[in-house]
Amino acid sequence: MSLIVQKFGGTSVGSLERIGQVADKVARFRAEGHDVVVVVSAMSGETNRLIGLAHELQERPVPRELDVLISTGEQVTTALLSMALNERGVKAKSYNGSQVRILTDDSHTKARIREIDNEKLHAGLEAGYVLVVAGFQGVDEHGNITTLGRGGSDTTAVALAAALKADECQIYTDVDGVYTTDPRMVDGARRLDRITFEEMLEMASMGSKVLQIRAVEFAGKYQVPLRVLHSFQEGPGTLITLEDVNQMETPTIAGIAFNRDEAKLTVLGVPDMPGIAHKILGPIGEANIEVDVILQNTGEDNHTDFTFTVSRTDLPRAEEVLRRVAAQIEAREVRSDPRIAKVSVVGVGMRSHAGVASQMFAALAEVGINIQMITTSEIKISVIIEEKFLELAVRALHSSFGLEKEPNDESVA
Ligand code: ADP
Ligand code: ASP
Ligand code: MG
Repeated sequence: MSLIVQKFGGTSVGSLERIGQVADKVARFRAEGHDVVVVVSAMSGETNRLIGLAHELQERPVPRELDVLISTGEQVTTALLSMALNERGVKAKSYNGSQVRILTDDSHTKARIREIDNEKLHAGLEAGYVLVVAGFQGVDEHGNITTLGRGGSDTTAVALAAALKADECQIYTDVDGVYTTDPRMVDGARRLDRITFEEMLEMASMGSKVLQIRAVEFAGKYQVPLRVLHSFQEGPGTLITLEDVNQMETPTIAGIAFNRDEAKLTVLGVPDMPGIAHKILGPIGEANIEVDVILQNTGEDNHTDFTFTVSRTDLPRAEEVLRRVAAQIEAREVRSDPRIAKVSVVGVGMRSHAGVASQMFAALAEVGINIQMITTSEIKISVIIEEKFLELAVRALHSSFGLEKEPNDESVA
């Protein structure tokens, strides 16, 4: 008998019928004698609907009230799933974030979990209940409701699994595991039996939304055994594991991630002198805008061009700040371009394989795609390209790195 945390995403609880199917599944685990804590998302589309309502009223909704509003979706599904379980003769109780006491900091809409009180949960489990906990939400030290950022139910599940020292955290969703790239974009994408925490973290950070970034961070930090599975199909799913240094068959590339959520800003004709990067990016940082890829060209005639990317939603604000800065530093011009995309190849095998970058650039060149910016880390190479070429780029890279084939296939260079 083990303790399992199971998280069901929005589409898996998207209707009463599906909630019934989830209840059947949970009931089967219970019948096998496992202790089960279930974390649920809101019904699919509900969080977007609520955010839409808020924006109809206010351009920039008050964060505290926004959290009160958008946390309601998960409260609905906890109650419904508990009822469905009770209907099946399984003792179940719903809990919202503050009832468990998932204590977070006070950064509304992107709060971080500080502490989970597991006393109540242990008592509930000992009394033989399945505990159905609302994902995505917590409470700050003053009792204000907070939310954990989009996709945050994954993080709730992993954090509960860590706090309860669960034997496994199972993320049930609408795909049967983590794929070499988004299976909705590339038909030939292949399910991975396993992927390392590090790779999964890069995939998630680079745009693969199958798991929330913080959930992966948390799982890696507390070594929570984590698996992604299909809610309604049988199968082994994908296990997120520690890197096995002895594994001879580590493929060079685990997968391709992509992201359309960024926009590019360029300041042209910047006087080239020490401190200029700070002068430009300092005010951007002060405006709480995160910068991703940065590129500064070598100067000519004592002038240089400075380019960086920000989240697309931050573009109007970033542009505003930048125009002010550009006037101060006497730069020639500010240009912005929201029609960019970032494509990344990710793999721990890159550490021991040279030539991944050149293979990536060659594959993109072959299909005529121009690279605008490049950034690398030890286990990832990302490029910024024109958005309209995104799908072509992902397909070309997926095929160039032989990702449709078996991971131990010799042809994976
Ligand atoms: P849930 O509502 O269950 O949390 P999400 O929509 O957040 O589900 O995540 C599942 C989706 O992630 C899939 O439907 C798939 O389109 C997308 N996805 C993106 N990249 C990948 C990938 N590499 N592997 C699997 N799914 C991916
Ligand atoms: N319902 C929230 C969202 O849509 C949290 C989640 O689904 O994980 O972002
Ligand atoms: Mg999700």
